[in-house]
Amino acid sequence: MANTTADLESLLMQRSLTDVQLLDAAEAAADFRILPDATVIKIGGQSVIDRGRAAVYPLVDEIVAVRKAHKLLIGTGAGTRARHLYSIAAGLNLPAGVLSQLGASVADQNAAMLGQLLAKHGISSVDDAGLSSVPLFLAEVHAVIFSGMPPYKLWMRPPPEGVIPPYRTDAGCFLVAEQFGCKAMIYVKDENGLYTANPKTSPDATFIPKISVDEMKARGLQDSILEFPVLDLLKSARHIREVQIVNGLVPGNLTRALAGEHVGTIITAS
Ligand code: ADP
Ligand code: MG
Repeated sequence: MANTTADLESLLMQRSLTDVQLLDAAEAAADFRILPDATVIKIGGQSVIDRGRAAVYPLVDEIVAVRKAHKLLIGTGAGTRARHLYSIAAGLNLPAGVLSQLGASVADQNAAMLGQLLAKHGISSVDDAGLSSVPLFLAEVHAVIFSGMPPYKLWMRPPPEGVIPPYRTDAGCFLVAEQFGCKAMIYVKDENGLYTANPKTSPDATFIPKISVDEMKARGLQDSILEFPVLDLLKSARHIREVQIVNGLVPGNLTRALAGEHVGTIITAS
């Protein structure tokens, strides 16, 4: 197997970029984490922010307290307003790339609101989580807010069927955590975690504390509490090998999850 930069360079000049030997050589360098001390938390759109003050104020208090001990990249979901936009735009037969931009505008709105609430604590929201001032904010105030939608915009990969963008804010936040090599990825939603069926419509559903991606798929749960592409992103991730989903309506859950406690459902890559 090739293991020097020179070998890799000659392979890159001669081979297809998906050549097996070339891919092996490109893997030879040791893993590098850009922001290893930071944790990404996603504050749900429909599940949390759309509930308004009752859900959001206690979480804001928790974030302000917990950032003394943790560095937080806080991503926002979109939620009900995005679903409304999607229904109108899909009815007009507009493509996934246009819906992606519409959905992003709602995640932006939620980031803007969270930014106003956290402003007096010195916590800012950034237009683009892709580095720039993010490390400085994390170093100085231990937290920064970003809009969770991945910025694919018009270039959103269309789904096999329909026009709903497959990569939305669950995926956007996961990708930030994975690319930055962060410590953990926590989804803050409105249920204790994953159940055998949607607990909102199936009262008999039972709670699943821990499950792998493959088991989730085998049980037909791939399109449930997380956007389905996140499972494949998780399965092939090199840094984020598990995510936790916690109930943000229960005070203290986020703090406990950040401390490494198992308070919701943990989904593992393998
Ligand atoms: P967010 O606003 O954070 O993106 P969503 O509303 O999209 O959250 O997803 C969370 C919701 O997923 C829960 O409120 C729940 O109603 C639903 N859901 C569907 N299937 C399941 C399941 N098997 N277990 C738990 N929740 C589920
Ligand atoms: Mg969602």
